[in-house]
Amino acid sequence: MPLYDYRCETCETIFEARHAFDAPAPLCPVCASASVQRQITTAPAQLKGMMANAGSSRSASKEDLKSKWSEETPKLRDQLVSKLGEDTVRKNAPSLFSE
Ligand SMILES: [Zn+2]
Repeated sequence: MPLYDYRCETCETIFEARHAFDAPAPLCPVCASASVQRQITTAPAQLKGMMANAGSSRSASKEDLKSKWSEETPKLRDQLVSKLGEDTVRKNAPSLFSE
């Protein structure tokens, strides 16, 4: 279930609540007010964090990425061949056949 940030309009407390996206808004944990507003700032912040992590792990292990790619290439090639036929794939992506 997704985690939401809420701000209480009564006492200004900012709190997190985890619930289904179509569930009613929770009550404020401090003053039990139902006047809470869902904050929409969480997702971009999380996304930024994820991208920062992805960037650092990518630069840390180029070799890992290379071996990963050589693992993935035959799978990708098989998928393309079964979809498009071997002749088409050889013509358009000859690098997939050099091993
Ligand atoms: Zn409150």
